[in-house]
Amino acid sequence: MITITAVPILEDNYAWLVHDSVKRLTAVVDPGEAEPIAAVIDRDFGGRLEVILNTHHHSDHTGGNLALKARYGSKIFGFGADSARLPGLDYGFVIGERLYFGREEFTVLDCRGHTSGHIGFYSRLSEGLFCGDALFSLGCGRLFEGTAAEAWQTMIRLRDYAAITRVCCGHEYTASNGVFAQFVDPDNKALRLRLAEVSRLRAQGLATVPSRIIEERQINPFLRADDGDFARRIVPRLAQIGVELLPSDLDDPVAVFAALRRAKDVFKP
Ligand SMILES: [Zn+2]
Repeated sequence: MITITAVPILEDNYAWLVHDSVKRLTAVVDPGEAEPIAAVIDRDFGGRLEVILNTHHHSDHTGGNLALKARYGSKIFGFGADSARLPGLDYGFVIGERLYFGREEFTVLDCRGHTSGHIGFYSRLSEGLFCGDALFSLGCGRLFEGTAAEAWQTMIRLRDYAAITRVCCGHEYTASNGVFAQFVDPDNKALRLRLAEVSRLRAQGLATVPSRIIEERQINPFLRADDGDFARRIVPRLAQIGVELLPSDLDDPVAVFAALRRAKDVFKP
């Protein structure tokens, strides 16, 4: 059996452990710090960590690389084109490459936008989509290095995974993302239900992720930039916070996505 475990680290990050209980292999995605991850590995996974995967170079995703590698002798994998920024990298992927890991296989996806070298990993058996800071539940990452056009392509790529795919993202941002999502899309009933569930989970100190792709498609505004009716509906909402979406742009998903991203950047709840 393949299991996926979210490990809360730092302020509001998640590292993800993928464990094959038959082959007794463990991988971690985005270890932003070592200690909490090592504690789970030693307690639950036999004190072994074979593989470290990085989605992008930010230190809250790579800060534990070297300590975990020193402790467990793990191999570190990330995007080859970003190798200079990934501490301790042993192997640089190209887009589309596969990493075979016991019975599991991880496919390397282009997830540019948040950074220029952001990648993601799809794990076939566990149906997990490890998307770092490219896509969050109810939101997406800020565009620090990439363009809106690149980030929109990433949204489409991730959205096209099967409905049951689990969105294993890098942060517990769902509640704050939800405030913006509800501001732009106040009449979305599925969103209201999800926000009630999020409040309940957070009140119990539980993670709100992974979510499923099928629900993100309906309630994550950043996945809906090519829905013309949605774009028309959000025009007055964005205008309220000083972001203009021109009538000529309503059928241009990149322009709609860029406006949503700008609006989220300036939004004050
Ligand atoms: Zn980041």
